[in-house]
Formats: sequence, structure tokens, C-alpha cells
Amino acid sequence: MSSTSTISSTAFDVYAVRAEFPILSRTVHGDVPLVYLDNAATAQKPQCVIDSISRYYQYSNANVHRGGHALGAEATALYEDARATVASFLGAEPNEIIFTRGTTEGINLIAASWSQMVGDSLRGRNIVISGMEHHANIVPWQMVCERTGAELRVIDVRDDGTLDLNHARTIIDEATAFVSIVHVSNTLGVTNDVREICSLARAVGARSLVDGAQAVVHHATDMRHIGCDFYVFSGHKLYGPTGIGVVFGRADVLATMPPYQGGGAMISTVTFERSTYLDAPMRFEAGTPNMEGAIGLAEAIRWFKRIDPSALREHEASLAKRMHADLSSIDGLRILGPTESHVGIVSFVIDGIHANDLGVLLDEQGVAIRVGHHCTMPLMKRFGVSSTARASTAAYTTSEDLDAFSTALFRAIKLLR
Ligand SMILES: *Cc1c(COP(=O)(O)O)cnc(C)c1O
Repeated sequence: MSSTSTISSTAFDVYAVRAEFPILSRTVHGDVPLVYLDNAATAQKPQCVIDSISRYYQYSNANVHRGGHALGAEATALYEDARATVASFLGAEPNEIIFTRGTTEGINLIAASWSQMVGDSLRGRNIVISGMEHHANIVPWQMVCERTGAELRVIDVRDDGTLDLNHARTIIDEATAFVSIVHVSNTLGVTNDVREICSLARAVGARSLVDGAQAVVHHATDMRHIGCDFYVFSGHKLYGPTGIGVVFGRADVLATMPPYQGGGAMISTVTFERSTYLDAPMRFEAGTPNMEGAIGLAEAIRWFKRIDPSALREHEASLAKRMHADLSSIDGLRILGPTESHVGIVSFVIDGIHANDLGVLLDEQGVAIRVGHHCTMPLMKRFGVSSTARASTAAYTTSEDLDAFSTALFRAIKLLR
């Protein structure tokens, strides 16, 4: 079966999907057609998501949870419906869903609140992350370690880009208090066995967090199946708006945790002597929330759920296979990470060519890829490079996009060699 026939199969009509994204039909640098392969950085938005945001401002805008009038009630209902939509997407309950600005804020929220709760008891204990974490899942834990005296431990990445689970079994021990791990690497496209890692954490009584920023677009994400205490993601990589993200936290765990920020909307009573707080999730949502973001994200999830998951998976796997095959045929090109993955994220380096130069020459031909360290500097160091070129696909990526990418890449390499 050729990749083309899979992509245009009736189960999944990529051209129909593509037609829903107005930005994909624009040109760049004058009249050069856009080939957007920077989806791991942010995905484009379908018209229905764009419309849901303008509809909110045209008809329903008011502050939420303040009551008192029709629009306030309507906006609150839309915002809370959005929470319920996210909850059902994750196989969770609405009171387990906290809206944040994104993945980064979500991890900071958990790191700050959880570490405040356990406090001084962290001295002599350890927090475990992996060697392929995004900076968002490194720096907040380093800050906790600096403050509390806990030790930061890192699960090794093997030469093939997968995690060394045996090493994980060694370093997750009785002194482990928290394990925080990426589900799908934004740099390597590798999918980690987060279910196994969360069960290792549970076995020693440690809490677990999964960074799902890349995974929510590729996997059925069922919180009970994964068995994590916390799961975080951003709306903007899931065809939704920027400035909105989600923390899933198990209800019984959130119930024990102190607020992250203080302010309006998170309190029950306030006096100058002391304040009392609402229960989760409100306790963790101080101030006026991003209402249009939550509503847009719910629309994006409804849109995403209309796509048959197994057809999408097949589509993405065939794109990934095609990219791996095209890139592997290039002399002096090295792909970082597994040579086989069903996730369309491929990082590569080419002998004697700087990724930045490649990025510029591809951009001139309308092809948008990402070059740099992808917010994973320790992983770059692990593979002995300072930057890579990364191409990443989405539900709307066609085989013609990959044709254009290949052609542009060959041309660029010829010019740079
Ligand atoms: C994008 C990304 C983040 C950070 O997400 P923001 O939306 O920038 O907060 C964290 N982890 C992974 C794996 C990512 O891909």
C-alpha cells in the first residue's frame, strides 16, 4: 500500500480536513505556497475554532462566576461546558480539570503547590524526570530542588532515542517523592511508556505527572488507563487557541493541595486576618480566566473527536514512514531518535550544514520547519549536537506537503554543499 492511497482513503479525507484550515491556503514571500511542517511548535486552527471565539465575543461575553445577569450566566455555562468537554476527552471528572495558560503554567502550578504542601520533608528525597524533557518539565523541578534540598534525578535516554526503563527502575526508589515525565518527545517523536513509569512511581508512593503537550494530538488519552496523578497539555498544539491549557489532577490529590495563586474567584471568604479557599478546581483558578480560550479549546476538541482515531493514526504513521524514508536516503543525514515512529515528528542533522542555514533556505521555498534546540538543550547535549532541523506533521498534512519538503530540502542541500 503506498502512502498516498492511505492518505486519501475514504476513512480519512485529508483534503476535506485541510479545507477547514483557512491559513493553509495562503502564500508566503509573495506567491510561494505555504507548506506548514512546524506543527509540534503550534498547530493551525480550523474555521470552527476561529468562529467559536468570535461568536463568544459577538453574543456571550461577560465575566464568569460572578452571577447577577443573563450574559454572566451564559458565559459561565459556556466556560463550565468547556471544562466538561475537556474532562470527557481525558476520561476524567470536571472537578479534576484546571484551566491554565498552557503546559508550562500547568507544570509550574503543580510543582509550586505540591512542593509547598510537602515542604521541608523533601530534603534527602528525590524528584525524577527524564533526559528528553522539554525545559518546561526541567526548570520548575530544579527550582523546587533548589528551594527544598531535594535531588533531581534523570532517566537516561538510549542511543536509539528511547528511555532506558531499567535505569528508571534503578533511580525511582523509596526516596522518590515525584516523577515527572514527557509522554511524546517534541524533539524525537518517541512515545514513552508512561503507564509503566507512573506505576513505578505509585509503587514507591511517589506522585506522577505526565507532560502530554505532544501526546494529546496523537493518542487516546485516558487518565485512568495511564494511572498518573497529573496530566498537562496546551490548547494551541491541539488545534485550539493559545493562552489556554489544562491540568488534570486526580480529585483526591487536588483536594489536599494548597492554592498556587491568590486572588478573586478562588476564595470562599476573605478577612484581613485570614482567607478560606474554594475547592478544586476553582481554588487553582485565581482571577478572571481565559474564557474565550476555554471555549475555543472545547470547540477544537469537538472538532478533533470527529476524526476517526484509527484512521488518523494510520494517516500519521504513513506520513512518518514517508518522512523517515525520504530523509534516510540523503547522504550524510542523521535522524535523532527512533527510525520508526507513528508520530510525525522528525529531528535531523546533516554533515557540514548548519540547521539555521537549512531553515532559511527551506523558508524561502515556503516550507516552514523548526531549527534550534526545541527547548530540550540537555537532549541536544546527549546527542552531541547544538541544534537540529525538525519537521512535524498534523492531521491536515498531505503527501504533496512532503513532496514539496523533499524537493526543497534537496535544493537547499545542493546550495549549501
Ligand atoms: C510545547 C511543549 C511544552 C510547552 O508548552 P507551552 O504551550 O509552551 O507551555 C512542554 N512540553 C512539551 C513536550 C511540548 O511540546
